[in-house]
Amino acid sequence: MKYYSTNGKADRATLREAVVKGLAGDKGLYMPEVIKRLPESFFDEIQDLSFQEVAYRVADAFFGEDVPADTLKQIVYDTLSFDCPVVKVTDTIYSLELFHGPTLAFKDVGARFMARLLGHFIKQEGTQQVNVLVATSGDTGSAVANGFLGVEGIHVYVLYPKGKVSAIQECQFTTLGRNITALEVDGVFDDCQALVKSAFMDEELNRHMKLTSANSINVARFLPQAFYYFYAYAQMKKLGKAGQLVVCVPSGNFGNITAGIFGKVMGLPVKRFIAANNANDIFYNYLQTGSYNPRPSVQTIANAMDVGDPSNFARIYDLYKGDHDAIAAEISGATYTDAQIAETVCNCYEQTGYLLDPHGACGFRALSEGLREGECGVFLETAHPAKFKSTVEGIINAPVAVPEKLAAFMKGQKQSVPMSRDFADFKAYLMSR
Ligand SMILES: *Cc1c(COP(=O)(O)O)cnc(C)c1O
Repeated sequence: MKYYSTNGKADRATLREAVVKGLAGDKGLYMPEVIKRLPESFFDEIQDLSFQEVAYRVADAFFGEDVPADTLKQIVYDTLSFDCPVVKVTDTIYSLELFHGPTLAFKDVGARFMARLLGHFIKQEGTQQVNVLVATSGDTGSAVANGFLGVEGIHVYVLYPKGKVSAIQECQFTTLGRNITALEVDGVFDDCQALVKSAFMDEELNRHMKLTSANSINVARFLPQAFYYFYAYAQMKKLGKAGQLVVCVPSGNFGNITAGIFGKVMGLPVKRFIAANNANDIFYNYLQTGSYNPRPSVQTIANAMDVGDPSNFARIYDLYKGDHDAIAAEISGATYTDAQIAETVCNCYEQTGYLLDPHGACGFRALSEGLREGECGVFLETAHPAKFKSTVEGIINAPVAVPEKLAAFMKGQKQSVPMSRDFADFKAYLMSR
């Protein structure tokens, strides 16, 4: 299968090229030329299949032409070493818990899949080691570092701003060792990102070592997110609740929801989607007005959704050929202030006993307000509430238990390389490796 760029000015790429490059040469996002429909028979039996079986069928539709069946199956099964259960919150609202992976957030799925697929291409080519550079303000670094941990032929450098990430987040990428190196940059997130960008553009450095990014727009991180929409449907069908299913996605860069929409194009019987935003309501405004006006992001307590120019909007726009009415017919929007998010976490906990994280709270609230007669809703619980421990404890006024997996990171020995924000220093360091 070939991949084209949403900007339409770059050559079509093979899967391998799209995965290694990430962004197309014209700065567009890669899209698969064909989105295959899955047969009716698959949906007839889906409720009896395991998560891994469901995911493999979806993966085969995207990647089956380009990756040998046994390899692809291995990649899918290795990626999904944890469950994504649907949990009842109210009679009509269910939580798809995507936080049972190594770093307790949904980005584990895409990061683990991408690491394994890239590992496959490197082995196949027999090329030199590939070095992944990733700048992080917290969550991406942990998902990528853990996703790539121990994958042969790949070394990961995580650049993070000194003193600007939470203690839990820092532990998730500084205690791993092996093929993961954490660089503690004396600066802010933008400095980290600038260092990574300069590295990709430096010819001498690129001759010295093979560099790539593990950005969330990469097709190998983006497409696997479709897996759990199918599995959520399977679980709801088993419960007899899938007749009029509404799926609500707390959204920032809109990669997650776009993968769900791809699922619908493949035949997944979802009635409609809701994109839940925090105060960064660029997409919400687009739905209301038909004009897309990006602006600088504002900081909220659902900080993984603090995005002022959602990159995957380009994919949604491309998929619907820019037809605003078609987009608005399939996706509705919601936007919540920090006060509303806090109120939702608090009320839901008191009334149902279910503890939401600030991102999932946007999803739960949008369903509470937006479900119509006869519909059932699933919202994506994108992270475990303990990842936002102090925020959530402040809201519910009670301690939040930290899962064993998260606590284990805190026990590890922090190891990081101090780095200035001067590119010459960063380059000299990489040239010495
Ligand atoms: C990344 C992230 C989101 C936003 O997902 P997008 O694919 O960028 O829309 C939501 N919640 C959490 C916890 C995240 O880490």
